[in-house]
Amino acid sequence: MKKIIFILVVLLFVFILLFFFWFYKIRDEEKYQNKKYIKTLEKIDYYIPQNEQRYINYKQTHFNLNDEDIVTQVNLNLDKDFYTDTMETPYKNTNYILINKFYYVDKEYVPESLEEITICTKGSLYLVEEAKIQFEKMCQDVQKENLKIRAISAYRDYTYQLNLYNKYLVHDTKKNVDTYSARAGHSEHQSGLTVDLDNTVTDFNNFESTDEFLWLEENAYKYGFILRYPKNKEKITGYSYEAWHYRYVGENIASYIKKHNITFDEYYVRFIQNKVNYS
Ligand SMILES: [Zn+2]
Repeated sequence: MKKIIFILVVLLFVFILLFFFWFYKIRDEEKYQNKKYIKTLEKIDYYIPQNEQRYINYKQTHFNLNDEDIVTQVNLNLDKDFYTDTMETPYKNTNYILINKFYYVDKEYVPESLEEITICTKGSLYLVEEAKIQFEKMCQDVQKENLKIRAISAYRDYTYQLNLYNKYLVHDTKKNVDTYSARAGHSEHQSGLTVDLDNTVTDFNNFESTDEFLWLEENAYKYGFILRYPKNKEKITGYSYEAWHYRYVGENIASYIKKHNITFDEYYVRFIQNKVNYS
């Protein structure tokens, strides 16, 4: 009997030893793989050392994403819930200001050089001067094709957005409203670089079905405008597809975004976020 107990104890001891051996080996292997993975990510220009552990964690749940997308999406804070750890956006009064669910402008922010749109507009609407000039040029060229576009919303201040969002909340859940309306301070319309469009006859919700939309899809970038919330990019922008919402970013950025089929958020991480001297 004693002998059996002795053998069992020895076996148990060996088993525990093997278990620890196996455990540490796996852990070391994992550490080694993570190190190797980080080494490859470090080669990416916009890699941020402080985000190391977040890249590793994000890769575990998004294993089909390539390295660039892992770094981009973590730098955009997409490993966090929308509207958490929000921060005031830098680069105010530039064409590359980013306003989204993580970056906001404060209550008082009013862009410099707002100008009233003089043609192709439903009522009195304002855009930043450069965007206004380019919008009007685009509209004139649209008319040459016997088509029509019209601004139905452009610059909106903080209070306007606050009321709009709250109005939606009366009939809809916060979760739903967040997919189509920005919380105050987080609306790109406050940048004065954004314009919502229709073609004067079709409801803006159906703008996608119009010839004007097709024309813009081909040509808007030449005037510096991009479709800001495209189809299939909802997880990145945080918004449902909006065929009517255009953002002015200037011709160079718009061309790049169109050519590479990325969102402005992704462009921002890759070329602006860490480039303090960007011009
Ligand atoms: Zn809009």
